[in-house]
Amino acid sequence: MALDLEQIYRDAGAFLEGHFLLSSGKHSQYYLQSAKVLEDPNVAEKLATALAEEIKKSGIQIDTVCAPALGGVLAGYELARALGVRSVFTERVNGEMTLRRGFEVEKGEKILICEDIITTAGSALEAAKCVQTKGAEIVGFAALANRGFCSRFGSGKEEKANCKLPEGTKFFALGDFEFDIYDEESCPLCKEIGTKPIKPGSRNN
Ligand code: ZN
Repeated sequence: MALDLEQIYRDAGAFLEGHFLLSSGKHSQYYLQSAKVLEDPNVAEKLATALAEEIKKSGIQIDTVCAPALGGVLAGYELARALGVRSVFTERVNGEMTLRRGFEVEKGEKILICEDIITTAGSALEAAKCVQTKGAEIVGFAALANRGFCSRFGSGKEEKANCKLPEGTKFFALGDFEFDIYDEESCPLCKEIGTKPIKPGSRNN
């Protein structure tokens, strides 16, 4: 893999440094804003093509890529194009992941779930369950980047306790971004620097 994922994120201004409040409620000094990487369709295509190559090498068969909205949609669409398969997405309605907009999946359809970034894989797993209830078969998970809690295919790294992916699941990503996340009580940015965390995506983030 010749891609330098961190450099690509940095070049796109997508590797943010500061004090962030993550959707999980944890605090972090860094935040990955994948939308900034994917705003250049050429970069999106390059990343998706590299990811598709990794997936093809594994030999798994895929009918459809399914992404949890909103974060996974662009990555999932580009990955589906690179794999030459169909692309659908799930979205939350009153908090519950659902398949809408006329999207249908068939019984036995082989589906790969795609995210921009997999942290503990919570949303990815909800999307998987949503299509599984319609009879689809989940053949694996994919993301542009892995935050290092789950173990990506071929990395040889141990999965951590908070990874929600079922044991034995194939998970593909282009690289690992490992950095600490903190509970509010033990966050050194709150304690030592005394700044307030900001929610990425709000205002100018
Ligand atoms: Zn903090």
